[in-house]
Parts: sequence; structure tokens; C-alpha cells
Amino acid sequence: GVTADRRPVWLEVHEDHIGANLRMIKSRLPQETQFMAVVKADAYGHGLTASANAVLKAGADQLAVSVLDEAVRLRQHGIEAPILVLTPIRPQDINLAIQYRAAVPVFQAEWLAEAKRYKMTAGRLSVHIKMDTGMGRIGLREREEFERMVPLLRSGAYSVEGVYTHLATADHHDMAYYSRQLMRFYEMRRWVGDSGFRGVAAHCANSAAAMRFPQLAMDMVRVGAALHGVYPYGEDVRREVGIELKPTISLHAEIVHVKKVRAGTYVGYDNSYQAAADEWIATIPVGYADGYFRSLKQFHVLVEGKKAPIAGNVCMDQLMIRLPHRCPVGTKVTLLGRQGDREITVQQMADHVGTIPQEILTHLSARVPRCAK
Ligand code: PLP
Repeated sequence: GVTADRRPVWLEVHEDHIGANLRMIKSRLPQETQFMAVVKADAYGHGLTASANAVLKAGADQLAVSVLDEAVRLRQHGIEAPILVLTPIRPQDINLAIQYRAAVPVFQAEWLAEAKRYKMTAGRLSVHIKMDTGMGRIGLREREEFERMVPLLRSGAYSVEGVYTHLATADHHDMAYYSRQLMRFYEMRRWVGDSGFRGVAAHCANSAAAMRFPQLAMDMVRVGAALHGVYPYGEDVRREVGIELKPTISLHAEIVHVKKVRAGTYVGYDNSYQAAADEWIATIPVGYADGYFRSLKQFHVLVEGKKAPIAGNVCMDQLMIRLPHRCPVGTKVTLLGRQGDREITVQQMADHVGTIPQEILTHLSARVPRCAK
């Protein structure tokens, strides 16, 4: 893809706020708990390396990414911290993972046997044993599955660094399912110690769990959303927990065209907007190909610190807005973030689209340049 640097559209990444969010969450955890900062999916759309540097500077001990390629990218940028890839890698990529010192999840004896056959690189592959305690995504569920892995884990090809699970409902007000997963994990992590593996870090807490139940954090937390300014739970839990997160990203553009239209004039594909009176309509060079969802057509942006409604269907590369009065070409428009004393949050956009903030963030396309603020 092409990053469009020659167009007045930019994402500001507030790296100091990412650091502040990390320090706030970390300050509530037991002193000895390690902090794995999750910077997967291009750091929730913020930009992988900038976000990784920000969290490491703020005190993260380890990083987690989505895919092996992200781990490789971080190493190529000189990052030395331990990195865990959260999705399974292909057995044939074991050499690459060893070369780039990427730890990976393991949960199948067959995978361990096959990867071992591909192994040509000296050194061991760092692995975290993944337990499925109720997420139903990846991980082993039965003791017998674990026992079949043990001889392979002891074969000299692997170094067992962690045992972990992922929680499906840590953000829910009702804690019953969370508690069930936690109890099952307490049981399953004991299998690892019983088989003689020592110094294995147990971790399960995502943002919601780390913020709500810091005393249950175990050896390490894996926090992503909250670092990137997203509350990992709804209003009810938010009031209970009381932690304030700082917003970490904002999206801005400049007006490229302004015109006065007569009452009755149509604007946009499908005549999707019709001017009710004589109106000032502006065009801004942001569209759904930038990750500005087409379903935001009834939403608004900020101009001169006030709401300006979107006029008509969002196009691929451009959209139109209604101005309260004439504004010159070059006027700054804020599509996400603060302008004056008004703010558009990722949560508001997500609510409007009918999704979660993470989906909005990860759709902000690579075409939009990220710049540090
Ligand atoms: N751990 C795993 C395995 C994940 O998939 C994720 C993201 O969903 C996280 C940790 C981080 O979760 P959150 O962004 O809610 O902190």
C-alpha cells in the first residue's frame, strides 16, 4: 500500500498518552508482576514501532504482536525486548522465529513434532503453552493433550517460557464465567510445574482483567486496548473501576473545497443528501478507503470547535460536510479527537457504526500517515 504524505490528512499518535496509560495501569499491579504490552495489529492501528518504543520507554517488560512478521519488523527496528506472537505460526517458520527471537504459542504435540523436523537453526524456540480455559479459540483443553507434548517440550528444541490463557468475558459485569476460566487456569498451569518445568511465567489478564482485578494478575499481564486509549469495558464497570485513560490517537484533515449550494441541491452518490436551505458545503479528502466507515454517514466532524454533519454517503477517498458558515479552503477538520472543548471519541464512532473501538482503530488504513504528537 501507499502512504499518502502529499494530502492534508494525518493521524496524530499521542505517544506520551500511551506511556501515561501504561504507567497508570502498572502502578496498581503487584510490584513483581511483569507487563507485556500488546502492540498487535499495528499497535491497534497506531503504528507498530512508534507504539512499541513508547510502551518500552514507559516501563513495559515484554511485547506481544499478532503475527511473526510484526516480530521481525520490531527486531529490524532494533527492539530487544522479549516478543510473543499471539497467533500460531507455521511449523516451517520455526527457524525464522528462532533467528528473530520470537516466542510463539504451542498447544499441539503434532505441531511440536513437525516444527522440530524443520529446525535447522541452533538455539531453542521460546514457547508459551496456550491453555483453552473457555475462550474456545486456540489452546489445549485436556491434560492428555498436554502430556503428549511433554517429551517434545523436553527434547532440547524448545524452551518453555510461559503458560497462558485468554479470557472471554473479563469485561462483563457478571464475573461467573471469568471466575470459571480463572479456576480452570489455576488447575491447568499446575500441570506445567508437575512435569518439572521451572521458571515458567503464568499470564491471563487482558486490559479488563488487569484493571479490574490487579491482585489476580499472576506473573504477567497482557494489556493492549487500554494502552491505546480504549476502555476495555462498558460504562457500568468503568464507574466501578474509576481509572481514567488518556486518548491516544486523533485524525485530522483540511478542507479542500468549499461552495454555496441552493436549497434542494443534491450532494453525494445516490442523491444521498439534499440541502434543506442555501448551505455551505465543504469537501474533505477522507473516505472509507482511509478507514472512515461508510456507515458514518449520519455522523459529524469538528470544524472551528463545533459539530459539522456529514452530508451524504461517504465516498472512497472523499466526503462532504455541511458548514455553519463559509470557511476557507485549508480549514482544519477533526474527524477523531479533540477540537476546542469538543471531542469525538473512538467509542462514539464505534457506537455509531455498531462495532467496538478496536475495529475502528484497526481499520484506519496505512494510507493515512501516522505522526507523533
Ligand atoms: N492476549 C491475547 C491472546 C489477545 O488476543 C489480546 C487481544 O485481544 C490481548 C491479550 C489484549 O487484550 P486487550 O486489548 O483487551 O488488552
